[in-house]
Amino acid sequence: MSTATGGMTIHTAQLPAMLTQLRLPTIARLWPAITEAADRESWPAARTLSALLEHEIAERAQRRTARHLLEARLPVGKTVEAFDFAAVPSLSKARVMALAEGDAWLTRGANILLFGPPGAGKTHLAAALGHAMVDAGYRVLFTRTTDLVQHLQAARQDLKLASAIEKLDKYHLLILDDLSYVQKSQAETSVIFELIAARYERRSLLITANQPFGAWDAIFPDPAMTVAAIDRLVHHSIILEMNTDSYRRKSAEARPGR
Ligand code: ADP
Ligand code: MG
Repeated sequence: MSTATGGMTIHTAQLPAMLTQLRLPTIARLWPAITEAADRESWPAARTLSALLEHEIAERAQRRTARHLLEARLPVGKTVEAFDFAAVPSLSKARVMALAEGDAWLTRGANILLFGPPGAGKTHLAAALGHAMVDAGYRVLFTRTTDLVQHLQAARQDLKLASAIEKLDKYHLLILDDLSYVQKSQAETSVIFELIAARYERRSLLITANQPFGAWDAIFPDPAMTVAAIDRLVHHSIILEMNTDSYRRKSAEARPGR
């Protein structure tokens, strides 16, 4: 047995470098304390090894989730816990909670369509489902639809639309907020249609819109494409309607002094 002088023996001198090389930062941080406990309490070597690895795996999952949360660009604090279901009687809380707590819809590439007037809570609810999926270990991207259309149009101009759409494949869930705000001039290039077609039955979309399908002709270049897009979106989809007054306005009116 080697003698410990200053915590570092001849056997462990290379440990920090090796752990860095293997990218095991948690073990690099914890091994002095854990091996000391192991020596003190005479743990079997296998138990010590297993304790070190368990810590690394647990923290790795945390780091991954933190990374996914950053890249998702979700509105902060808009979670299911912060959502007041009583304000939206047309919405089944049980149904929403099942979507937030289960990932079956995501693993089969189903879509969620969220309809409601401005202020109904669509962005909040979309973000809440996004947060839930990040917590469950999935990759999510939240974006305003107009921003994404602009991005894809620029890619198309560079003849890189296919690869731009492919890059979005890494996101299990792509949240397109406010589809109804896409301008007619933006619609002409049909990038949204190509995105919908590319993800069809593989990767989920969550789309929010003020108007259900009736008014979607402005979003796609021609009626046939509108029908084709709606067809693909609806085929495997969960439709949530938030027929309610503006939560913004209601909470402003409920403020004292009014
Ligand atoms: P929409 O996207 O439909 O226009 P938002 O989701 O932006 O509406 O909601 C407007 C504001 O009201 C946001 O700050 C949101 O967090 C809040 N809000 C809306 N509905 C609810 C609700 N049911 N419970 C809690 N906050 C809500
Ligand atoms: Mg919104």
